Amino acid sequence: MEKKNMDFYSLEFDKDSEIFARINGLSYKDNCTVPVSDLRYLHVLHFGFDGKSHEGEIICNKYIADDLLDIFQKLYEAKYPIEKIKLVDEYGADDEKSMADNNSSSFNFRFISYTTKISKHGYGLAMDINTLYNPYVKTVDGRLSVEPANATDYVDRTKDFPYKIDDEDLAYKLFIEHGFEWGGAWKNSKDYQHFEVPDSVVKKLYN
Ligand SMILES: [Zn+2]
Repeated sequence: MEKKNMDFYSLEFDKDSEIFARINGLSYKDNCTVPVSDLRYLHVLHFGFDGKSHEGEIICNKYIADDLLDIFQKLYEAKYPIEKIKLVDEYGADDEKSMADNNSSSFNFRFISYTTKISKHGYGLAMDINTLYNPYVKTVDGRLSVEPANATDYVDRTKDFPYKIDDEDLAYKLFIEHGFEWGGAWKNSKDYQHFEVPDSVVKKLYN
């Protein structure tokens, strides 16, 4: 089902499309096992940190397309600040570069390190918001790992700073309402920027 609206809409696309040409070999890697027909291109509006309206582009799974359109429309109506919503392909599909630039994005095909398991971003079933202010924090071999690396000022969540996602935050509330889970609630690591569909949904869709 497609929603048609001048500002918030989704499009199907195929391998002959201009949209596919933008992601081919980047977020849509040669070994991508997710069919293009499962992906959607979303156009949204968002309020930047400059307080002005900007256009945003997202590639996500068709399963969450209408949810994201509804969430981003409500965030826009509330003037919730999101600095950039660009395709990760504009950063060469390099997550670290995209996060370091505080870009918000969804689809980027990849396997979870050292496994054949596809990450939820690999299905376009996860969304990251204001990534610089909401880093992915974990402990690797006893050392703190912060992604993006330039986000160390935002690791301490007891501090007060703008664009912080916590459980009082509007984006948090909207994603939870739509059945997403928040990476900030994980036990062994914290991914404050990250919202994803539950494992049970991925199993249902792709087993
Ligand atoms: Zn994420």
